Amino acid sequence: MHYRLLPALCALALLFSACGTASPASGEQERSLGFFAMDTYMNIRAWSADEALPAELEAVALDLEARLSVTREDSEVARLNREGSAQLSEDTAGLLRRALALCAETGGALDVTVYPVVRAWGFTLGEEDRAVPPPEELAELLSRVDYRAVTLEGNRAALPAGAELDLGAVAKGYTGDRMAAALRDAGVQHALLDLGGNIHTLGTKPDGSDWHVAIQDPRGEGLLGVLSVSDRAVITSGGYERYFVDENGELWWHIMDPATGYPARNGLISVTVVGGEGLVCDALSTALFVMGPERASEFWRAHRDWDVELVLVTENGTVLLTPGLSDRFSLSSGDYGIQVIPDG
Ligand code: AMP
Ligand code: MG
Repeated sequence: MHYRLLPALCALALLFSACGTASPASGEQERSLGFFAMDTYMNIRAWSADEALPAELEAVALDLEARLSVTREDSEVARLNREGSAQLSEDTAGLLRRALALCAETGGALDVTVYPVVRAWGFTLGEEDRAVPPPEELAELLSRVDYRAVTLEGNRAALPAGAELDLGAVAKGYTGDRMAAALRDAGVQHALLDLGGNIHTLGTKPDGSDWHVAIQDPRGEGLLGVLSVSDRAVITSGGYERYFVDENGELWWHIMDPATGYPARNGLISVTVVGGEGLVCDALSTALFVMGPERASEFWRAHRDWDVELVLVTENGTVLLTPGLSDRFSLSSGDYGIQVIPDG
């Protein structure tokens, strides 16, 4: 596979925006903060009179991480996995309910019970501990993967023996939604949240123009292109984000095809979903990556009422755009050609 290796830290999207504009009359100015949460670097920029706001958003992210992390022993998800059933908080149960509906809607391309497989590949461990599991082991683990076996009655969740839940494919999108909601509640009109390359824009830039959100080149170290958006989440799943190369030089990444137990190799190397809700965009970025270009395009046509737009990057160097992005995306890399996905 022609695929240039990237340093693990390259997932941060580059962002271009108006720099620190202030409107002195209201005391409103750019408030920013960077911090680590959910295994990634997050960066907040909000135009507000309230100096304490970024720290409040950091607390939102850290609180959700403490409840949703699959690797933290004291999280709600870890407790459910350990004990087989658990009373969840309102937030966690609500997220699980939405996530299960998205698993169903994507025909299981998103499957929140794929965790035993992800772990067997070593993606929860350091790079040196990742390896291709034996096929018999994968077959056994796959028999435990089925989101339809998760039950949620009220806020009480239960799993069949051997099954484990992982909300990692949707947690950051949901967290961005919660942070954006906290900003709206505080009356903020302009903000940019970068959750490790998953971007949430609130309103426009302070000068009224669109935010420019960069999408990383999945095969190189530079940019694929730049999207102009306002009031939208821009969420990317890419094979380059977490991967390893086996002893035969073959590259394996962290997005699993729940139908096979192997990393999804269906023709896409990066999927960006633009939409109003981060949770939906995050779920779809993972699921459409699994589906591959044809099924992903078909899914988009069948879900026009979801109001999402896509940037699909194929392994042979085509950038497939939904029509709503054709005037909003500008290609930066000469290594790709653009095609617009037919809408009918
Ligand atoms: P994302 O970066 O949003 O695409 O989420 C990828 C993460 O979700 C991986 O690191 C796994 O922990 C988990 N995952 C991988 N494949 C799937 C899948 N098909 N459905 C649900 N979660 C997945
Ligand atoms: Mg996702």
